Amino acid sequence: MTTNLLDFDSEGLAAWFGVHGEKPFRAKQVMHWMHQRFVSDFSDMTDIAKSLREKLVNEAHIAAPAIVSDSLAHDGTRKWLLNVGQGNAIEAVFIPEDDRGTLCVSTQAGCAVDCAFCSTGKQGFSRNLSTAEIIGQLWLANRLLGGGKGDAQRQSRPITNVVMMGMGEPLLNFDNTVAALKLMLDDHAYGLSRRRVTLSTSGVVPMMDRLRDACPVALAVSLHAPDDALRDTLVPLNRKYPLRELMTACVRYLEKAPRDFVTFEYIMLDGVNDTPAQARELIALTRDVPCKFNLIPFNPFSVGGSLIAFRRSRPERIRSFAEILMNAGIVTTVRKTRGDDIAAACGQLAGEVQDRTQRVVRLQRGAAGSVPLKDRLPHPI
Ligand code: SAH
Ligand code: SF4
Repeated sequence: MTTNLLDFDSEGLAAWFGVHGEKPFRAKQVMHWMHQRFVSDFSDMTDIAKSLREKLVNEAHIAAPAIVSDSLAHDGTRKWLLNVGQGNAIEAVFIPEDDRGTLCVSTQAGCAVDCAFCSTGKQGFSRNLSTAEIIGQLWLANRLLGGGKGDAQRQSRPITNVVMMGMGEPLLNFDNTVAALKLMLDDHAYGLSRRRVTLSTSGVVPMMDRLRDACPVALAVSLHAPDDALRDTLVPLNRKYPLRELMTACVRYLEKAPRDFVTFEYIMLDGVNDTPAQARELIALTRDVPCKFNLIPFNPFSVGGSLIAFRRSRPERIRSFAEILMNAGIVTTVRKTRGDDIAAACGQLAGEVQDRTQRVVRLQRGAAGSVPLKDRLPHPI
């Protein structure tokens, strides 16, 4: 198997070229072809010497995960289901808005954090995505949305923002996530500003410090509860990194963050975390953290054929919760549910994963022959 060049950030690519006796500027040229023109065939890299192109054909390749399905919602949201092998499927979602285009990317197949309300968590953890599989989502989406046409004019690029809010906990796949983030920010690759790249975490405190030092981007923290007893049940990672530690980690992060606030994501679960008293507790909890709140109406999904027990808070409940926060001077938004006709909303990613995974596996079996379905799946169906 040759080397997938999508696996390298700029430093890594220069080093790989060095090992192969090539100058760093050659690596830059190839970076442009890969990440600004979205070319995958070395023979299309016309300003590169033929001898080098031949060497590359023999030793390397450029490959994003294979597309299993491509769906378009009524509101323009587009979702790609991608095959990352061994029966694992991940998703990337493009959300167009008037003034920007946001791509939501996945960082793991499954997730070990196992939040009570999340379909990805219910799948269990399969594995970390490679850098190529993470950046490959942005590469593919750009390519399919026509981002590489003409010259590398940034203004005409369809994707202006990236959020790591798809499947998986990015800070538990730290090295590959950081390499992908560096490519997103690199002027020789996607050239996005740090403020337009947001990493969402369930609160892996030591890794928040490492991210601050390695590659600070905008930060969203999945809070979901105002006290440890409730958060312990909703986000099990809270038992390891309780709220007090999480709040101080947020303050430390802001020392180097590109924005002067943290966004707290807060899923709205009927009768669980949506009372006025809980809104007031949140104000006290976050007193020392410059922050905004993004309230996310819960998106239901099924596990093994039955609907998960949580319900979405009623709209008037969400409105009054938001008002309490806003009256305390905290900027608060309610997330619009996008793409729900193609199950592309938060927490619905691969919500029907068992079906879809079976489909992926069936495709693979067709090619590979006789491996029984149950043995190809990372988790029992
Ligand atoms: N693991 C990271 C990033 C991926 S989850 C994290 O937890 O932050 C991205 C966001 O989707 C999180 O805020 C998460 O709480 C939210 N989410 C998960 N399941 C959801 C559901 N069923 N409905 C609405 N939002 C959900
Ligand atoms: Fe993992 Fe985030 Fe889902 Fe929690 S909400 S299980 S951390 S993907």
